[in-house]
Amino acid sequence: MHTPPNKERSPYLPFGDRQDAPFYFKDILSVKQFTRQDLDYIFAVAHEMAEMVRRVGTFDLLKGKILANLFYEPSTRTSASFTSAMERLGGSVIPINEVRYSSVSKGESLPDTVRTLERYADVIVLRHPEVGSVALAAKYTEKPIINAGDGIGEHPTQALLDLFTILEEMGKVDGLTITMLGDLKYGRTVHSLARLLTLYDVKLNYVSPDILPMPDQVVAEVREKGIPQQAYNTLDTVLPESDVLYVTRVQKERFEDLGQYEKVKSEFIITPEVMKAAKEEMILMHPLPRVGEISMDLDDDPRAAYFRQVGYGLFVRMALLAIVLGKA
Ligand code: ASP
Repeated sequence: MHTPPNKERSPYLPFGDRQDAPFYFKDILSVKQFTRQDLDYIFAVAHEMAEMVRRVGTFDLLKGKILANLFYEPSTRTSASFTSAMERLGGSVIPINEVRYSSVSKGESLPDTVRTLERYADVIVLRHPEVGSVALAAKYTEKPIINAGDGIGEHPTQALLDLFTILEEMGKVDGLTITMLGDLKYGRTVHSLARLLTLYDVKLNYVSPDILPMPDQVVAEVREKGIPQQAYNTLDTVLPESDVLYVTRVQKERFEDLGQYEKVKSEFIITPEVMKAAKEEMILMHPLPRVGEISMDLDDDPRAAYFRQVGYGLFVRMALLAIVLGKA
């Protein structure tokens, strides 16, 4: 029987770190672990990171620290973003992207893999196709683990960067109407974002094909927090009142029946014509990759925030790495 490690008394705790700091040596598994005060702290550190990147580009805050970037599912942005974040902080990265070529394909279990990697690295970033797998892995390692997406479950670091984007671009979150559009059933980024937004005074709209609604579990959690939410199957009614339109990709890889995917994949496409009905000062977000949901003709529209969103992600991930390693 495995006894979960006590990370607060881990033999790995490096001498001399600020051990009293919030999130020191903690796992980042779900947005449910954050309070609004935590977010203020993380975003304050992210601001400092942005300033340092602007001023010096790369610096030595995490010099000598090593990140294991363990990806069991494809990733471009999240893995590159964590790599860039670690390297801009002066640390280094063990990239493990093609897990099918590593021991997992030989049948090694996730617990064994993380118990091995913790001997090499100071922090582990993990993406895995199964909901709950990252939380399971965290039980087997004394090093901090960061969830980079667990199947259709959560993507907490994406939600943090999404929220940071809204704050930076709109100057506030309270009072905003946020419309989430696309694959709300399988899109883990909207599951995390909707939960995180319950810490604010917002109104949520969900627009999706009939077969891809926001899961009951997320809807129930949002309801419990008293946040107004409403589901629609067309964008027309809610676009003019939206301050943020958050578009997601239909998650082809989650469909058992590709015929179903083909039927719904192009149900919502945001074009310059569609955006005529949107507010002048709203923002259009997307976690990327996009596969046609937002027309490229919109990229020069000042409201198109998705590439700026990628940039904010770097600062948030730098902040998280510095925080869990006690150097913020
Ligand atoms: N990159 C995001 C994710 O990993 C969104 C997506 O893949 O559509 O969940």
